[in-house]
Amino acid sequence: MNSSRLSAPADQISGGGSVNNCLETPTLTPLIPALVAANIQVERIQTVGSAKIPQIIYKTAKGRCSTLLSKQQFLKIWQCWLQIRHPKIEKIESWEIKTSGLQFTTNQGKFWLSFSEAKAFLSRYNRVAMEPLSVKINGSDAVVWNSVHQSLSQVNESGCSCADSLYRNTICKHQIAVQFCREHYSKVS
Ligand SMILES: [Zn+2]
Repeated sequence: MNSSRLSAPADQISGGGSVNNCLETPTLTPLIPALVAANIQVERIQTVGSAKIPQIIYKTAKGRCSTLLSKQQFLKIWQCWLQIRHPKIEKIESWEIKTSGLQFTTNQGKFWLSFSEAKAFLSRYNRVAMEPLSVKINGSDAVVWNSVHQSLSQVNESGCSCADSLYRNTICKHQIAVQFCREHYSKVS
């Protein structure tokens, strides 16, 4: 990573308010396994067989394909979603795929997720797994630097400063990256 790009000039550091300043010592999102090693657009989420193995059907630049996910990986993904949407909930106890979305039973009751949001989330989750972002966490706030798009996003408890979060009200990849980091570093420390 080009760290010089992320450090603020000395005159801005004393100001304390610069966003660059917050990125002086960024951390990359921890490496997590991608669902598919390509940019995907998830079209369908379902289970196969009596064992109810999760399966996603997705589109890439090369065409349509499908892959099976382990139940453990599937649960981990929705655990991440839940921790962004409802941070006070600790654990998904079980999940079920209904006709119009996913239903989670947690330690604090049932939560619902529509297929459209679930599919968008999976596609972005996969992108964050493939393209690590630089994250700097400061309490409940965080800044995320995307070196590919040269963009900076600010994430806090109410969402993110990017268009996906502000105007589309969906969970963006910046929020996912921050969640990966929070989870990873809480385990490390
Ligand atoms: Zn964002």
